[in-house]
Amino acid sequence: MHSYHLKDLIFILEKQGPLKYLRKPALEPMGKYSLIRTPFYEFYFNLKAEIKFIRGITSTWPHPAAFLKRTDGNDWVFYSVGIGGAPVRSWLGEYYLPCLGYPSNPVWDCDPYQDPRVMNALGAWAQLFANLSGLNPADLPPYLQKFLENVLQNHEGALLEKTRKFHQLIKGRLSVLPPDARHVDYQVIPLNLTKGCLYHCKFCAVKSDNFLARLPRAEINEQALRLKDFLGPDLGAYQGIFLGDHDGLAADGEVILQAAELALETFETAHPVFFMFGSVDSFLTRKSSFWQSLDQLPAKTYINLGLESVDLDTLKLLGKPLSPGQVREGFSKMLAINGQYENITVTANFLLGENLGENHLPCLSAFLSADKNKADKKTTIYFSPLTTSQNRPLLLEQFFELKKISNYQSYIYLIQRL
Ligand code: SF4
Repeated sequence: MHSYHLKDLIFILEKQGPLKYLRKPALEPMGKYSLIRTPFYEFYFNLKAEIKFIRGITSTWPHPAAFLKRTDGNDWVFYSVGIGGAPVRSWLGEYYLPCLGYPSNPVWDCDPYQDPRVMNALGAWAQLFANLSGLNPADLPPYLQKFLENVLQNHEGALLEKTRKFHQLIKGRLSVLPPDARHVDYQVIPLNLTKGCLYHCKFCAVKSDNFLARLPRAEINEQALRLKDFLGPDLGAYQGIFLGDHDGLAADGEVILQAAELALETFETAHPVFFMFGSVDSFLTRKSSFWQSLDQLPAKTYINLGLESVDLDTLKLLGKPLSPGQVREGFSKMLAINGQYENITVTANFLLGENLGENHLPCLSAFLSADKNKADKKTTIYFSPLTTSQNRPLLLEQFFELKKISNYQSYIYLIQRL
C-alpha cells in the first residue's frame, strides 16, 4: 500500500480490504482498492482504477455511513441508512436502503438524483477528475503517475463503453438480480446458463421478450473466460457468482454443475457463493442426485423461487401459470432441501401490493403461520412489492403484519438490475 499527500489531496493506493463481504454499518470495499481523500469526500477506485464509491466526510453529508456506489451496470446507487420509521435492517435484512435512480418496486420514495447532497457529490467527482487531469506527472512519484493515468483513462465515456461491452458479453442488461444477492451486496459475476423464462407472467416487469432458451456449454465456457478477462485484476472484489438469468435452474443439471465448477476454477473466488433463480417447475423436477452434487461443491448456493401467492384468484390475476397446489409443493420441497443440505439455501418470493385477489393476504398469512413445527432459521421469505403499487405506507404495513406472524425470517425484496 502507498500513501501520498499532495496539497489538500491524500492518495492511498492498493489498500487491502476484506476477502469476503462483511455486513457492516460502514463502507468497507472488498478486495484491493485505492482511495483519494479531499477535504469533503472520499473517492474509491477498484484495481482497474474505475470509480466505485463516493462518501461525503463533512457534516453536510446525509450520514457518515451513507455512500454512493457505481455498479458494473454503470448505475449510481445511493446507500441511505434509512428514512424514518423502523430500522432498515428489520425490513431489508441489511444496514442500507439502496436508493435506485431507475424504475424498480420501491416501498419508499427515494430518488438519489433529487437530493442536492448526492448531486453535489457526483459534481465533486467531475471536478476532481478535471483537477487530476491538470496535475503535472513529472511532480509525482511513478506509482502515482501510473494510477492517475489509469484513472484518467476511465472518463465517463470510457466507463459507458465498458458497460456496453459488459452487457454485450452477457447478452444484455440483467433486469433483476435475486434477493439473496444481498449477502454479497449485489456484487456478482453474472454467468448466464439460460435466457428468458418458462412462464412469462402477465404482472412481471422484468421478464425478457423471449421464452426460455438453454445456452450451449461452449457458449457458457466462452462467457466465463471473457468475464474473467473483462474483470481482470478486480476479480478479487467479487465473492458472488450469479448463474443466470431468470430461470438458471431450468438448465440441464449437468450443465449447472459443470458451469459452477468452471466458474470456481476460472474466477478463483475466495469464499464463493452462487446465486440462482428457479421456477417451480425446474425446482420440482430436480432429483436428489443433483442436490447432493450441488451441496458437495466448495461453495454456498442460494436459489430463489418466485411463488407469488397461494391464492388461485391472485395467481390467475397475475397471469402466473401455477396452481396453489404447485406453489405449496414447491414450498414444502424448499423446506426439505433447506433442512437436508448444509450448503444449499432455497428462498421464496411472495407478492405484496394493491389489486391482488381479496384472499391473497388472508391465504398468505394462514399459510406462513401454519404449523409452527416447520419453522427454521435458514428459510427466508421475501415479499416483493408489485411495481404498480402506489400506496407505499400500506406496503410496509402489510409487510410488517406478515413478518410478525411468519414462521420464517422475512424481508422486502427490491428489484435491482445489473
Ligand atoms: S415472474 Fe419470473 S417466471 Fe414470471 S415472467 Fe417474471 S421472470 Fe418469468
